[in-house]
Amino acid sequence: MAEYEYETHDYDVVVVGAGGAGLRATLGMAEQGLRTACVTKVFPTRSHTVAAQGGIAASLSNMGPDNWQWHMYDTVKGSDWLGDTDAMEYLAREAPKAVYELEHYGVPFSRTEEGKIYQRPFGGHTTEFGEGPAVQRTCAAADRTGHAILHTLYGQSVKNNAEFYIEYFALDLIMSEDGQCQGVVCWKLDDGTMHIFNAKMVVLATGGYGRAYFSATSAHTCTGDGGGMVARAGLPLQDMEFVQFHPTGIYGSGCLITEGARGEGGYLTNSEGERFMERYAPQYKDLAPRDYVSRSMTMEIREGRGVGENGDHIHLNLNHLPAEALAERLPGISESAKIFAGVDVNKEPIPVLPTVHYNMGGIPTNYWGEVLNPTAEDPTAVVPGLMAVGEAGCASVHGANRLGSNSLIDLVVFGRASAIRAGKVVDADAANPVLNKASVDKAFDRFDTLRNAKGGAPTAELRLEMQRTMQADAAVFRTDKTLKEGVEKMTDIAAKIDDMHVTDTSLVWNSDLMETLELTNLMPNALATIHGAEARKESRGAHAHEDYSDRDDENWRVHTVSRVDGNKVDLTYRPVVKDPLTTEDEGGISLKKIAPKARTF
Ligand SMILES: Cc1cc2nc3c(=O)[nH]c(=O)nc-3n(C[C@H](O)[C@H](O)[C@H](O)COP(=O)(O)OP(=O)(O)OC[C@H]3O[C@@H](n4cnc5c(N)ncnc54)[C@H](O)[C@@H]3O)c2cc1C
Repeated sequence: MAEYEYETHDYDVVVVGAGGAGLRATLGMAEQGLRTACVTKVFPTRSHTVAAQGGIAASLSNMGPDNWQWHMYDTVKGSDWLGDTDAMEYLAREAPKAVYELEHYGVPFSRTEEGKIYQRPFGGHTTEFGEGPAVQRTCAAADRTGHAILHTLYGQSVKNNAEFYIEYFALDLIMSEDGQCQGVVCWKLDDGTMHIFNAKMVVLATGGYGRAYFSATSAHTCTGDGGGMVARAGLPLQDMEFVQFHPTGIYGSGCLITEGARGEGGYLTNSEGERFMERYAPQYKDLAPRDYVSRSMTMEIREGRGVGENGDHIHLNLNHLPAEALAERLPGISESAKIFAGVDVNKEPIPVLPTVHYNMGGIPTNYWGEVLNPTAEDPTAVVPGLMAVGEAGCASVHGANRLGSNSLIDLVVFGRASAIRAGKVVDADAANPVLNKASVDKAFDRFDTLRNAKGGAPTAELRLEMQRTMQADAAVFRTDKTLKEGVEKMTDIAAKIDDMHVTDTSLVWNSDLMETLELTNLMPNALATIHGAEARKESRGAHAHEDYSDRDDENWRVHTVSRVDGNKVDLTYRPVVKDPLTTEDEGGISLKKIAPKARTF
């Protein structure tokens, strides 16, 4: 058995992750006087949320008529009827409050002439329950909205005495014999010491797992560590087959050009110079949701109308927009286009390609952020002591496809909700749980085995094999054949985890070991993704199956629940929550309005 000395820290709450979700949860917990620690592997303001450009959705009606019911309807339709209706209602209803709170905390939003928060159009956000024109619902701080939010929330958390443990890598959850989460085991990256955080509530806010793919807009740190920890604790992941491809990643680098660029009037063209989105989505054109636009672009390329030497990408045109508008509203992406594509957006189109961007799936939760461990008898059974928020979680408000600017609002609404709930279920006067030693030992044993791994598969090689397989076999379009091959390949690749090779055994700033740990987290996420996709015999949202091109509500309006053990995946299903929180008499939305129908734009 591996012997590591460690220091123990007792808190009411420990939040793992300091992105938008983690910081909003941390702040909310600390404001109520709960003793709160936030553990993060990167400096808080370097979390991927810092890269969010376009904005945050809320029906403030600053630029024209809007209301939460329309926002809810768009989210339901955007999710292709796979989101949980209670959670989607909660999101849309609480969104304005959560944005005004951000404003009061100090987020420097862009302003209208009258001094109100500026809002821009984004894909899939409409009026009149999808029958009216596009709405300006996305609140923005130029094209650096995530940056503004993250810096503000960090400052506020520090002000409220939350304690930060920066560059601590969370290794594994500590679980009691009877399934309660008691804390988390961490490795401090800069001095090699080990730490145990013992808490009454653990909140996972570890972000997405975009790096399971070869080309992604997300940071290299987006390795699904929360999903990995949960899978190792024998808990499930949900709806992992739904992976969003953003239509406009810069060709080659994968760096993102925000959908706000199309919101401000940009449009896509093919090799014939045609604005082809008019053919696919006559009403909303370039502002149809992302799954729709990505598929349309892929179809143009397949049919020989791609641009460039190899006809393998598409053009995004902004050069017709006034130079002042670009400088004021889209300064960051003008710079990215220059650096990563060598393009002056005032003169030339930007070469773009659908690129992996967001994970709709994640750790299943209810709309308070409490993690679920569904059983046949109780599909909403809660895991005591454990919450998940942000991209790591699956509440599920995005279902099969997320609308642009609905993630930042998800972070703050559910970060806030988790704190409200913790205020009720965490007893600040109670003693901390007595740690299950077997669970602690297991975490150190796993760490030690990886640290001393001397097999035949170097981490970087194995990671590349996984990324290429996922990119090829779980892409924008999927077929029975590619998915079956993908499952076989991924099963073999995942088996090689037991034969890894780590060169550096030191404990201080050991990036070799850290990337190895991250790969062991990416792998269960990737496995669940490809297995879930292979099993789902329909097309819905981001899951476009060529052999089953229709949505099948009768058989498949269900959440996929996957449990990963080594390289094996067990799939079960749980029902989608179809009832809203309030009825029509209470000002809520009528069930008839949100009943499933064909999804056209
Ligand atoms: C380029 C880009 C642009 C985007 N633009 C928008 C937009 O305009 N609007 C919108 O709504 N959405 C946007 N999104 C999506 C949105 O930004 C993300 O979904 C969201 O920021 C995720 O936030 P998070 O708090 O869940 O995780 P992250 O911001 O990814 O933070 C994860 C945190 O977890 C910590 N962590 C992870 N693993 C560990 C571990 N093992 N131990 C300790 N700490 C750990 C990290 O240190 C980090 O602090 C964009 C995404 C990208 C990639």
